[in-house]
Amino acid sequence: MKRLYLDWNATAPVLPQVRDAVMKALEAVPGNASSVHREGQSARAVVERTRRSVAKAVGAPAQAVVFTGGATESNNQVLRHHVRTNAKPFVVCTAVEHPSVLEVVEDLAKEGVKTAVWPVDRKGRLDMEWLEKRLDEGVTLVSAMWANNETGTIFDVASIVDAVHEAGALLHVDATQAVGRMEFDFQACGADYMTLSFHKMGGPKGVGATVVREGLKVGAIMSGGHQERGRRPGTENVPALAGLDAAAKAVVDHGEMWIEALKRRKAAFLEELTRIEGVEFRGDQAQQLPNTVNAAFDGVDGEDLLMALDLEGVSASSGSACTAGSLEPSHVILAMGYEEKRARESVRFSFGPSTPVEELARGAQKIAQVVKRLRRIDADWR
Ligand code: PMP
Repeated sequence: MKRLYLDWNATAPVLPQVRDAVMKALEAVPGNASSVHREGQSARAVVERTRRSVAKAVGAPAQAVVFTGGATESNNQVLRHHVRTNAKPFVVCTAVEHPSVLEVVEDLAKEGVKTAVWPVDRKGRLDMEWLEKRLDEGVTLVSAMWANNETGTIFDVASIVDAVHEAGALLHVDATQAVGRMEFDFQACGADYMTLSFHKMGGPKGVGATVVREGLKVGAIMSGGHQERGRRPGTENVPALAGLDAAAKAVVDHGEMWIEALKRRKAAFLEELTRIEGVEFRGDQAQQLPNTVNAAFDGVDGEDLLMALDLEGVSASSGSACTAGSLEPSHVILAMGYEEKRARESVRFSFGPSTPVEELARGAQKIAQVVKRLRRIDADWR
């Protein structure tokens, strides 16, 4: 049975050119990028080439890019660095951030830092008036993602940045889910910090970047080395960075085409899913990633549906892979005001530009069959 992988927001299949670049670097680049001999220099060349490629892919100068072990680490770095270097920090994040932001903010609050969580409405949209009020109370850093990993909802970063800067605060944007799925440009948007990883679009896992606006600093949150100009200790993962280079180049070369391909796939998938009785699409349909569909089928528990679909060869998820397996319903859907039982119905389908359109239509038909079967088992439905 050929499986249909609809969990690209957890991670994507590695692009062939990424795999080739990683393999090549494993074989041909044995050095440590901090060593001064020739092997070291060729490793350094890979690191710096990748810095330029990532910078180009996201619209930033190369020196703004600090490599880390992924977006989780970058999110921790930005928030922790801010609190350490600010005399009176007041950190705000949206209620629908990835746990690598939300849980850091919770930890900071326990440590005595002033924090607040920015609520969303039923569609996962932010209330700007709420922010304006908080900004007047002395907020120093706002953390808001560009696109949500569970619902695909895209935030209006341009209006957030204006409000935040007017109040003299800083903006951190987590762009992890935006890479290769929507156009964005770090410098043009005016944000102060951005975090990235490319593994949702075919890059390697376990490597990412913190991007810092010119004139601002980001410091190390670990000790033990001076790599990345003192901003991230630890020997650089050169093979992974070679893969990241290939992924960043692919975004530059194919990004526009990917976005168009995703739009076509989403339209075909939604056309089939819409036929299912009692389906509700969650998130802001007007501002949503072209690769993400968050759907709830009235009366069908999301976990039951996911297990049944897995047996049928379809892989999807109920939320962030970082919290999967916990029996709690998604914090994102709860924050949107759904009560627990309804929140548990949410299932996330996410795909990529290489997902065959006809497979998506077939997948949707399978979803329809499974939903019907589960509703028959649960005679209470209706
Ligand atoms: N932020 C968002 C929005 C994400 O979706 C993810 C991945 N689940 C992360 C951060 C964490 O990224 P990484 O896997 O690179 O640590």
